[in-house]
Amino acid sequence: FAPWEDPSAVPFIEFRNVTKRFGDFTAVNNLSLKIFEREFFALLGGSGCGKTTMMRMLAGFETPTQGQVLLAGQDLSGVPPYRRPVNMMFQSYALFPHMSVEANIAFGLKQDKMGKADIEARVAEMLRLTKLEPFAKRKPHQLSGGQRQRVALARSLAKRPKVLLLDEPLGALDRKLREETQFELMDLQEELKMTFLVVTHDQEEAMTMADRIAVMDAGEIVQVATPPEIYEAPNSRFVADFIGDVNMIEAKVIETSEDGTRLQAASADFVIQTTSETTARPGDTVWYAIRPEKVRLVAGDTSPSNINAAAAVVWDIAYLGDVSIFNARINETDVLRSTVTNATRLVERPITWDDRVILSWDQDAGVILTK
Ligand code: ATP
Repeated sequence: FAPWEDPSAVPFIEFRNVTKRFGDFTAVNNLSLKIFEREFFALLGGSGCGKTTMMRMLAGFETPTQGQVLLAGQDLSGVPPYRRPVNMMFQSYALFPHMSVEANIAFGLKQDKMGKADIEARVAEMLRLTKLEPFAKRKPHQLSGGQRQRVALARSLAKRPKVLLLDEPLGALDRKLREETQFELMDLQEELKMTFLVVTHDQEEAMTMADRIAVMDAGEIVQVATPPEIYEAPNSRFVADFIGDVNMIEAKVIETSEDGTRLQAASADFVIQTTSETTARPGDTVWYAIRPEKVRLVAGDTSPSNINAAAAVVWDIAYLGDVSIFNARINETDVLRSTVTNATRLVERPITWDDRVILSWDQDAGVILTK
């Protein structure tokens, strides 16, 4: 299932040249985006980039200054929030403190004047889906943070919206619970066959849960792609930096040929031979972005070649359990980072501070970036 690869596929949610201004401040700038039915889609970006504003325009809490928001092909302008088949999950502190879990979940259904038996059935279904059955009679203050979050989720799903909007849904949870809840949300989305749109500044959260991610910066979308594409083939320095850890090597293009492109590093004496495609021409300054786990590290003074290999001195090491991070200096000021798995070795390492090492990588390990 990859409708975004099919040019004739009809989007479920569409932002068409949407601009949102607050006074003379432009929060969203002429942005277009297509999201497909049953997608788990993430809007990812730093504080103030406009992601919440996007979500609020879809929910109907904000009106675009220009452009249209469409759902199932229908222009939503003029449709009030309560008439949109979209629901927003609010943080758990928006629960009614004096009501039990089941009453919290039933609240919106009662307001909609649903029949008693139907409400009971729906609440039971929601309790089951969110694994809250044992806590149905409790009040929010008698629950853990994670359980409260699930009540908020159950409440927002109770009316069976077609689209669920999640704004930083897991922000209040600790790391372990956040990871667990991420998987639960994915299972739930799968089971309910709904479209989920999550807004987050947490790249791990977006990478874990989303089918596709839109990376936003200053009211614009920089890149839309699947998590592996965004990680392996970022289209800009901004995206490469935002997602995960990266070595950004400034370099000059020496030549391009059918075999790939050859770059001279700007600050040290090594050459990068890469199969990464680029429009850059000989003489251009570019950046070579390579993830630390793609940089190998072995003890040694001199490398047999300076192509895709650099001599360095270990500057610091961080032991993280699953991996160790080595920062190795290639000159007075520049550091290349190599992340080495600890899967096969334990704390005792043959390479330590001040050791001379050779860093090396494969031709297809990184990407050339021109912006
Ligand atoms: P965060 O993660 O910090 O919530 P965000 O990407 O969700 O950031 P938005 O809430 O969409 O950001 O806000 C985008 C920009 O628009 C911010 O600079 C914000 O100050 C501004 N903004 C949002 N709502 C209003 C408003 N009602 N009036 C004026 N400016 C606003």
